[in-house]
Amino acid sequence: MTTRITHHLNDDLLMSYAAGSLPEAFSLVVATHVSLCDECRARLAGFEAVGGAVLEAEEPAAAMAGNSLAATLRRIAAMPEDARIEAPAPAAAAGSVFPMPLRDYVGGDAGDVNWRALGGGVRQAVLPTGKDATVRLLYIPAGMAMPDHGHGGMELTLVLQGAFEDAGGRYGRGDVEVAGEELDHTPVAAPGPDCICLAATDAPLKFRGILPRLAQPFIGI
Ligand SMILES: [Zn+2]
Repeated sequence: MTTRITHHLNDDLLMSYAAGSLPEAFSLVVATHVSLCDECRARLAGFEAVGGAVLEAEEPAAAMAGNSLAATLRRIAAMPEDARIEAPAPAAAAGSVFPMPLRDYVGGDAGDVNWRALGGGVRQAVLPTGKDATVRLLYIPAGMAMPDHGHGGMELTLVLQGAFEDAGGRYGRGDVEVAGEELDHTPVAAPGPDCICLAATDAPLKFRGILPRLAQPFIGI
């Protein structure tokens, strides 16, 4: 990676991810950022070590029956699929926009996405995840502004190509913006390559303008 990541995940998100308690949509954004970011990978490893120590303290090995390993493996095999998505080690896939695990999730790279036009050159693709939160890919042409909006919950936006700017600064490839209910912003795609983002939300956005509000039910943001 030649770009330097300056906007990172916060401790709450990394701890929740380590604990496996994030909705699938947020888990995908966290795992994709971690696959691009050595700093967050190292912090995550710290939280996972703490979690492992807690597990060891709670389940003394002496209390385990002889067949408990086989029994545990059987239970794991029978469990419904976990919403947690593992972040693989950074791959040196030159030229690809989507790092793992996103590439696996989409079944290809940016050119393989089934984009839906939203008008003004903006496109989106909602990815299939659990219902408790939503994650979508957004394609925003350079120079295009997104409608001014607030948030009913949390919004995580990870840049995969190009860059966008808002009051919080400039976000380039690998940067993640964590927006809460207190933030109102108007992201603008920076000049240069068109901006592609992965964005997760757990509540509908609150648009200020009347036109985006009218369009909202149709585009599902
Ligand atoms: Zn990071």
